[in-house]
Amino acid sequence: MAHATGRLLHVRACPQLLGLDAPLIATPAQIESLGTCAWCANELSEAGRRYFDSVEQAVRTLDPSDEAVRATEAALGDVDYELVWVPPSYSHIAVGDKEHAVAWIGRGCVMHQDGRLIDFG
Ligand SMILES: [Zn+2]
Repeated sequence: MAHATGRLLHVRACPQLLGLDAPLIATPAQIESLGTCAWCANELSEAGRRYFDSVEQAVRTLDPSDEAVRATEAALGDVDYELVWVPPSYSHIAVGDKEHAVAWIGRGCVMHQDGRLIDFG
């Protein structure tokens, strides 16, 4: 997911976006032309990722309760993914394929690729 602030692209978890309620989603033209901020480039690199075998295993590192696992899986719905990982910052859990995340899991919420935010916290 790309957000544009100023002249750089960011992922939603970037510290530079903290405090913004609704960062702008970058347009395709911006994604083509803007650079990526250094923190975000590191965040997006595969090098520092930690992979999990399942969403359940990853969620339990945030919240070990069965309710958290159940609610997260319900909020993900029928999203299709192969991989589950946390980025270097450990700020959220991502699910997706090798190339892209398709949903992001935080404590008490799931954000879908289309911008839908499901809050169950
Ligand atoms: Zn950034």
